[in-house]
Amino acid sequence: MADLPIAKIVERKELSEDLWIVKLKPEIDYTFKPGQYVTIGSEGIERPYSIASAPYEPFIELFVELVPPPDGNLTPILHRLDLGETVTMRPRAKGIFTLEPAYQDHLMVATVTGVAPYISMIRQYLHEGGSGLRFFVLEGASYTDEFGYDDELMELERDHPDTVKFLATISRPAEKRNASWAGETGRVNTLVEKYLAAYGLERENTLVHLCGHPGMIEDAKERLTPAGWNVKEERFWKD
Ligand SMILES: Cc1cc2nc3c(=O)[nH]c(=O)nc-3n(C[C@H](O)[C@H](O)[C@H](O)COP(=O)(O)OP(=O)(O)OC[C@H]3O[C@@H](n4cnc5c(N)ncnc54)[C@H](O)[C@@H]3O)c2cc1C
Repeated sequence: MADLPIAKIVERKELSEDLWIVKLKPEIDYTFKPGQYVTIGSEGIERPYSIASAPYEPFIELFVELVPPPDGNLTPILHRLDLGETVTMRPRAKGIFTLEPAYQDHLMVATVTGVAPYISMIRQYLHEGGSGLRFFVLEGASYTDEFGYDDELMELERDHPDTVKFLATISRPAEKRNASWAGETGRVNTLVEKYLAAYGLERENTLVHLCGHPGMIEDAKERLTPAGWNVKEERFWKD
């Protein structure tokens, strides 16, 4: 571990008590494909994180959720780290949850931090001036302040209406913290078929990406795979 490169925390944005976006400046040249993950560590504990930034950007951006002790090990440490402090970083990005441009349409389903790899894919695609592909992001959270990239996705939808669509849903509409919400409600896995139909997507041209909570992925797969949809998944932990 002593030989691992380090990365400095250069920006931090708190979304809620247990969710934050962090930008890291690696001491090495770090290359990755949109959709891949970086393995970072502190105090000898390492965990993988999907990269939200795009390869063209100067920093590595992550969207992290605190898993409080006793379950969580690294995130309580990361949660305490301030600007200027460092984490270790495995030098090579990993993962095959990457964009498959052979499909025209991409339904990108996420629970909270699971939106990170889609942000990387969409930013890079638009940066390169891509055209022809369409991204439909469905993000589910318990609370309205947990989406992380909703402002960016809504802006991208406004600026690129033929390329990006964003739908956010909350699973606990009755709670006070969600009082201002006027959008979609229900767990995102229960809405996948509704939005495949609403967007007029077709099996031959569509890849459904599922990322985040393993329970969401399991349920969505049970709905989609027997019905003939192509599905690709990235589970953030084991059930
Ligand atoms: C490919 C990949 C990409 C990932 N990308 C992200 C990411 O972008 N953002 C992010 O916050 N996490 C991501 N994770 C999860 C991350 O690697 C850690 O597992 C998580 O941050 C918790 O670490 P920990 O050491 O605090 O807890 P761990 O020691 O890993 O233990 C966590 C335990 O708590 C439970 N748990 C409850 N909620 C969560 C949760 N949200 N994440 C993980 N476990 C949970 C599980 O049962 C798990 O076994 C990713 C995981 C994988 C495999």
